[in-house]
Amino acid sequence: MAADTLTEELTADTGAGTIELRRLRKQFGGHEVIHGVDLSVQSGEFCVFVGPSGCGKSTLLRLIAGLEDVSSGDVWIGGEDVTDNDPSKRGIAMVFQSYALYPHMTVRENLGFGLSLERLPKAQIAERVEAAAQVLDISPLLDRRPAQLSGGQRQRVAIGRAIVRKPRAFLFDEPLSNLDAELRVGMRVEIARLHRELGNTVIYVTHDQTEAMTLADRIVVLRSGRIEQVGTPRQLYEDPDNSFVAGFIGSPR
Ligand code: ADP
Ligand code: MG
Repeated sequence: MAADTLTEELTADTGAGTIELRRLRKQFGGHEVIHGVDLSVQSGEFCVFVGPSGCGKSTLLRLIAGLEDVSSGDVWIGGEDVTDNDPSKRGIAMVFQSYALYPHMTVRENLGFGLSLERLPKAQIAERVEAAAQVLDISPLLDRRPAQLSGGQRQRVAIGRAIVRKPRAFLFDEPLSNLDAELRVGMRVEIARLHRELGNTVIYVTHDQTEAMTLADRIVVLRSGRIEQVGTPRQLYEDPDNSFVAGFIGSPR
């Protein structure tokens, strides 16, 4: 398959991938952890969330994905209010740090499983799985099981499972934090390449400052359930609003 056909096969076709959060609040048992977040992510943008542990990064992703219900506020995706839509109706895919591959299935079956649940015709599933495997450079591994893969290969399969669904946006929750340093660098480069090729919107949560600085179009710095500052890596580095942001971005201030 030619590279452009491949990309065509995998690129989101479900409309624009804008993501808008409006006055988003979330409480757990009366305790508010997201305090009215407003954010617009452009279609095709690579947006990175950083902030200390417990500041609400994962909760925000889960609210966007629909894995948690909002307490108040709206989530808009592709210009549509999806606040009350099921996760499967939102056209986005989430990649977690734990790979959660099915151990008894081959890589091919792991990649195609979600699509078979969506009742996609078998031939189309096979096509998308082959295309994703090629993009991720895991074609030779399609008949292996997860136990026969390295950590980096498993992570590729996990990303492949998201890709085959042709989402309009990817949500990554610290996807590389279980990998050793060397693999992390390799996967980071891969994720940047994938984003260039597929052009989907990405929201990417990380602890790793280098990942944030090198991958992001814009970085969102979160603190205790609020947005502290949003800007390009350069803006945040050169002109942090306060020492908290500076501390996270690693600028000298
Ligand atoms: P982060 O991903 O930035 O580390 P989280 O979004 O996981 O932070 O958590 C934000 C806050 O919400 C934390 O105080 C956490 O304890 C709380 N929290 C997250 N999920 C739940 C839940 N299901 N029930 C109760 N509290 C939760
Ligand atoms: Mg988290």
